[in-house]
Amino acid sequence: MSAGLNLAQLQAVHYTEGPCLVLAGAGSGKTRVITHKIAHLIDKGLAPRRIAAITFTNKAAAEMRERAAHLIGRKAKEVLVCTFHALGVRMVREDGHVLGLKPSFSILDAGDVTNILKDCAGGTTDLATARQWQFQISAWKNQGWSARKALAMAQDDHARSIALLMQRYEERLTAYQSVDFDDLIGLPMQLLKGHPEVREKWQRVLGHVLVDEYQDTNATQYALLKFLVGDAARLTAVGDDDQSIYGWRGATLDNLKKLPIDFPQLKVIKLEQNYRSTSAILRAANNVIGPNPKLFPKTLFSELGEGEPVRVQDCDNEEHEAERAVMRIQSLRASANPPPAWKDFAILYRANHQAKPFEKALRKASIPYKVSGGTSFFDRAEIRDLCAWFRLWGNNDDDPAFLRAITTPKRGIGHTTLAKLGEFASQHKESMFGALFSAMLPAVVGKKALDGLLEFGRQINDLQYRARQSLGHEAARQFLTDWLHDIGYEQFLYDSEDSEGVAAARWGNVLEFCDWMAQRAGGQIQDAAGTTQEQPVKSLLEVAQNIALLSTISEREQEQDMVVLSTLHASKGLEWPHVQLVGVCEGMLPFKLDDDEGRQEKVTEDTAARLQEERRLMYVGITRAQRSLVVSWTKKRKKGREVVAVQPSRFIAEMKLDAATSREDPRAKLRALRAEFAARKAQADAGAGGAGV
Ligand code: ATP
Ligand code: MG
Repeated sequence: MSAGLNLAQLQAVHYTEGPCLVLAGAGSGKTRVITHKIAHLIDKGLAPRRIAAITFTNKAAAEMRERAAHLIGRKAKEVLVCTFHALGVRMVREDGHVLGLKPSFSILDAGDVTNILKDCAGGTTDLATARQWQFQISAWKNQGWSARKALAMAQDDHARSIALLMQRYEERLTAYQSVDFDDLIGLPMQLLKGHPEVREKWQRVLGHVLVDEYQDTNATQYALLKFLVGDAARLTAVGDDDQSIYGWRGATLDNLKKLPIDFPQLKVIKLEQNYRSTSAILRAANNVIGPNPKLFPKTLFSELGEGEPVRVQDCDNEEHEAERAVMRIQSLRASANPPPAWKDFAILYRANHQAKPFEKALRKASIPYKVSGGTSFFDRAEIRDLCAWFRLWGNNDDDPAFLRAITTPKRGIGHTTLAKLGEFASQHKESMFGALFSAMLPAVVGKKALDGLLEFGRQINDLQYRARQSLGHEAARQFLTDWLHDIGYEQFLYDSEDSEGVAAARWGNVLEFCDWMAQRAGGQIQDAAGTTQEQPVKSLLEVAQNIALLSTISEREQEQDMVVLSTLHASKGLEWPHVQLVGVCEGMLPFKLDDDEGRQEKVTEDTAARLQEERRLMYVGITRAQRSLVVSWTKKRKKGREVVAVQPSRFIAEMKLDAATSREDPRAKLRALRAEFAARKAQADAGAGGAGV
């Protein structure tokens, strides 16, 4: 168990009596402490299901589960490794009835929330405004405020009007038996705060709580955490104040400052050795973070040797930058023996839209890649269509899901009928689904419309019943196939797309999604290597109820050998042998907020604090690299329709690289050209086309 841990790490792993904070720089083995501590606690006799390890993303949770399984085998499956939100879902499903919520409540995604807000405001609002409201309401909720509190605190008419809107929004959510993402933290907090019996239950259940990336928790998450661990405070938090990059979403470093005050018995452990990066990379990282004020002074050293110098590339424009990035990948693969795998490379950028030219260049060179942290699979219209049906099976009161399901695919029920139904339902304080079966509905809608509505209602009842009966992946797959066939979803996609190719791709997504859903229903499942595994069996209804929470299907993607394109935010906690940070110019990193339309009012915010957060983002980027790092910028950049001249980011100078070594090595360039030539030739010989991924 102690293999591969230094003394300070061991100390953190073995200290189980009280609260413990591991505060250390990037790559110092904080996450490793968590996985080893899970194993140690189980070794000491704590039942795996009494351990909760909280990660920042679902992907990080999957990775941690895998690492823990490596150490302790099957028992790792019983440990509750999940995000704060997933823990929240579990708590609210188990105990939400205390707050008047049905266990089958629906979880709304960001798209549903903006739609409801638009509707609450009368329906004529544009998306940008609705998003601003959502942003404000979310910020209030993260502070633990209800609409009533927001109204009481409002300083001006603008805030007052949003607070009133929030009031209507809250009413809708209650009526729909739905919660949004912020509620998944806020409601468990209310549960624990206001209901001692629930609090005691959870404190009894959880024998130890571990939190990774603690610096990015928000105020409500911290409050929830305090209630969860109680006075016994069996808590291990690991974090790095220099990597706090979610301040814009309400995360607060106050949580780090408060920990020693709220838990006077807190044991603080610092780690100083970085096991990830070469000295050259680490020095650049330390230099960049240098100008930020120090919350907790840290030192970080590496024993992995000086390594390759960090290189800076100045490129003419984004296309040029992408071409050179591809050349570098080809060159490194051609010159090393054994050659690095595709998945050893990452290209990181500030904003999602920056991925485009790199995708193009990689496709052209037939290099497999995946874009992570971009538009989620779950944001695609076809997936959201299916999810609406799933949500309606799980919770008949979910009106937004009802409206989407009844109109997708179209079944001849028009807007007028739906508007009448909606009005009737709200007059009778019923959900739209519930109103379908009301004896008084025939007085409001015509015979033909009523028949259509009732047929839909019966279909949902039937599907719901069958989804509950569909246990395990085989039954689930069969059910999903039959259902898609019955509602004619494939035909609907082909009818609604002009291009057959696009329709086929969307149908492919649907099949992939259904396959993935079915797998989650468990039973005997064959993995990629052909071995059969026994997974706990669930009904498809159970799987469907938790769907909104899973924002990526990355659990399967991890295995694939592909170059990774990712935003800096989504790269947190991860590492790659070869990293390139691209688009490192003023305006992108640090990001200029007035570029971001619709958030102009934020410009007056504390600019110094914002610059510091951008600097931490650069620090996160640099410290993802293990062996080689290139930082590139373009002299020109597209901004809307214009092409504008740009300056290199101030963070490049702050890395304090040696000018003589940081420029690109001409020999490397030559090797790259040769490699590219060889690759093109091989491609031409094989007669291969572009391999889109
Ligand atoms: P980040 O701040 O980026 O989240 P971290 O502090 O969580 O980083 P880890 O990801 O746990 O760091 O570890 C970084 C790398 O160093 C990993 O590859 C890990 O396996 C390795 N590592 C950590 N501790 C040791 C150790 N004692 N001996 C050898 N390798 C280690
Ligand atoms: Mg980590």
